[in-house]
Amino acid sequence: MAEQRTGSPEETEAVAARLAEELQPGDVVTVAGELGSGKTTFVRGACRLLGVTGPVTSPTFTIGHRYEGKVPVSHLDLYRFAGVSHAEWGDLEPYFDDAVTFVEWPEAGAGVLPAPRFRVHMRHSGGDRRAIRIECADTRV
Ligand code: ADP
Ligand code: MG
Repeated sequence: MAEQRTGSPEETEAVAARLAEELQPGDVVTVAGELGSGKTTFVRGACRLLGVTGPVTSPTFTIGHRYEGKVPVSHLDLYRFAGVSHAEWGDLEPYFDDAVTFVEWPEAGAGVLPAPRFRVHMRHSGGDRRAIRIECADTRV
């Protein structure tokens, strides 16, 4: 998919909401990009479409959040992980169970996390502008 440009957090949330319309439990969406590029903002927009009404914030001091929307939604942040060990995977695995799962800083989970259905890449593009690239890894027919 071509890169999309946004000029405000609200526009980024709207891009995320359009993607969220496609999602169902079991789907994993990785959200990569540097600090402040809008990963959590993107996840928040997707969560709103999925019916999550409470706060959606970066799970920085815990591995993840689990929200109850129209479907269960998990929100992981692997920022502090250098890699994911077998033991750590045991803690992470339940988040993926029967939920739509968003993973910020997914790099540490490479090779361990379930294959994502979509990969989102966010970049600063000057001021409040952001560039968002969404790769579809859907192999389902
Ligand atoms: P990350 O999770 O990548 O660290 P956050 O979503 O927590 O990023 O923070 C992004 C910050 O940038 C927020 O303060 C948000 O309001 C601001 N911002 C400004 N413009 C945009 C935009 N176009 N898209 C997303 N966030 C934006
Ligand atoms: Mg974040």
